[in-house]
Amino acid sequence: MRVLVVGGAGYIGSVVTRALVGEGHEPVVLDSLATGHRDAVPAQVEFIHADISQPAAVTSVLSRGVDAVMHFAALSLVGESVLKPELYWSTNVGGTRCLLDAMRAAKVQRLVFSSTSSTYGEPESVPIDELARVDPTSPYGSSKLAVDMMIRDESRAHGLAAVSLRYFNVAGAVADAGERHDPETHLIPNVLRVAAGLSPEVVLFGDDYSTPDGTCIRDYVHVEDLAAAHLLALDATGSRSRLGPGGHRVFNLGNGTGFSVLEVVEAARRVTGKSIPLRVASRREGDPAVLVASSRRIQTELGWSPRKPGLDQIVADAWAFLSDHP
Ligand code: UDP
Repeated sequence: MRVLVVGGAGYIGSVVTRALVGEGHEPVVLDSLATGHRDAVPAQVEFIHADISQPAAVTSVLSRGVDAVMHFAALSLVGESVLKPELYWSTNVGGTRCLLDAMRAAKVQRLVFSSTSSTYGEPESVPIDELARVDPTSPYGSSKLAVDMMIRDESRAHGLAAVSLRYFNVAGAVADAGERHDPETHLIPNVLRVAAGLSPEVVLFGDDYSTPDGTCIRDYVHVEDLAAAHLLALDATGSRSRLGPGGHRVFNLGNGTGFSVLEVVEAARRVTGKSIPLRVASRREGDPAVLVASSRRIQTELGWSPRKPGLDQIVADAWAFLSDHP
């Protein structure tokens, strides 16, 4: 299948692109390189340097015959979104609006969208399933929720078959693709940067949450397992699948187990053998205390099950990637 991967030069998009190649599909990557890396795209994959809000570039590739689109192109920094909500609404929501217009014009009717657990905000209970109340605590989360709703409406009106995958905390790496954000804000790469001697200490954002050790609890899912979920979601948008044209389904993606920030640091100490100094700082705005997924829906409906659910394995794979790409 020919699949247009928008945002395929980023962390998750580049891992999914490899998974598509591995399954015999033909991905084409379109990326603005605003946050992605050209060298994250495998050499044999066609690359188009463009933004999804440039209709000519998107229409041109879609008109060459594309069966489905996978959409990873978005800004994703919670803190930045609080300071610049207009940037998040125009990039994430406006960009997707342009993409959907181009897809409709080209009659491309299958979409897998990279959504987020940030759509739920502070949960009323955990684990969080897809029926939980959505009440984002940041413009990043609001913009992603708006896109989920835009896709739902597009599906109902115009026959798009679509899946929104709501990721919890994606981490880990595959052999030659991993996390390379600048600035890096995520916990696991930041902790490993300290282990590698690239940063002096881990800054721990708050140890006064109402959790057993006072630090936030998150559900870490291996990027390789996430990529496998995208391939299942792609299949689900096929005309013979239950989803079919006009269907939009949301699936949460996590392992269903929560680890505190301190437990992640402990895992990194075990994996790397380094001491990893810590400094406690104040809370980071918009951080819910506990986010743990129920992934029962994707397990029962699409047959997904994580192959690498262990925290030490996730950290070890991220460490191997960082060690190779310091
Ligand atoms: N965190 C931290 N120090 C860091 C990065 C993150 O204490 O350098 C905390 C953050 O406050 C949150 C958890 O680690 O409680 C996971 O943060 P991350 O940015 O990795 O993912 P998020 O849950 O925000 O999507």
